[in-house]
Amino acid sequence: MPEGDTLRILADRINERFAGERVERSVMRDPRLAGRDLAGTTLVDADAYGKHLFVRFDDARSLHVHLKMDGTFQVGRRSTAPEWKRRIELWLTSGPLIGESVPVLELIRTADEHAVTEHLGPDLCATAGPPDPTDVATRLARTGETPLAGALLDQRRVAGFGNVYANDVPFIAGVHPFQPVGTVDDLVALAATGTALIRANARLRRQNTTGRRLDTDARWMHGRGRRPCPVCGDRLGYADERSTPWGRSITWCDTCQPRADAAAVDSARIRRLLALHPAMRDPVLPWRDQPPG
Ligand SMILES: [Zn+2]
Repeated sequence: MPEGDTLRILADRINERFAGERVERSVMRDPRLAGRDLAGTTLVDADAYGKHLFVRFDDARSLHVHLKMDGTFQVGRRSTAPEWKRRIELWLTSGPLIGESVPVLELIRTADEHAVTEHLGPDLCATAGPPDPTDVATRLARTGETPLAGALLDQRRVAGFGNVYANDVPFIAGVHPFQPVGTVDDLVALAATGTALIRANARLRRQNTTGRRLDTDARWMHGRGRRPCPVCGDRLGYADERSTPWGRSITWCDTCQPRADAAAVDSARIRRLLALHPAMRDPVLPWRDQPPG
């Protein structure tokens, strides 16, 4: 799933492979790019903000990309996708950069990138450092009646969480995803956990939420459907994207994540479930030096 960590990884890979290289040839199949040509420019760098990618060129233009659900980029590899799916092909000196099924592609002035990002919350995967968890928690709770998972997905509150984190962070913290965000005690610890997890995964280059099999996208909840809970063994709850107010599917455990008038983040559970994950060593976490609870 393309989330903030996915986009940070993609920007890093484009930088490592192509920064400073010349575009020899460009093929634009997206109608919004018709008639545009990047041949002769130099790729300066790439950066991400939340789920948005910017690839900058030395003619003061940036390619703005949003991958939504299905878009991907091949970095330095030939694409095996059919031609109509290859929305953009940039042939650089050392190889191709090819966008497949990318739903949002536009060339903008680099000076106008802020217009894309200024309505978004702070970027969880910012290279300058993590946003302050207290600020993230305050923004998440902005409208207190919003369900926790819906608040995590709202990019205007904080930019970068997608559905993997909207499923897994509430599970790790022991809070029901439908719990109104304003009724969650110690939301700062939950914000810090989500921030540490997505940033560690951007570094690991894997969307791993368990800390086990770190070279895979192992996850606690996302995609488990109605199978048994991996922690307590009870049958999981599941709602598809048509039956949640935020329009994405969700899996939860009623035993591990009891719904109540007021809920509290379970920091001992966080330490236990993430004991093996490198995210636990992140200084953003308030209890990083304590043993698992
Ligand atoms: Zn459970």
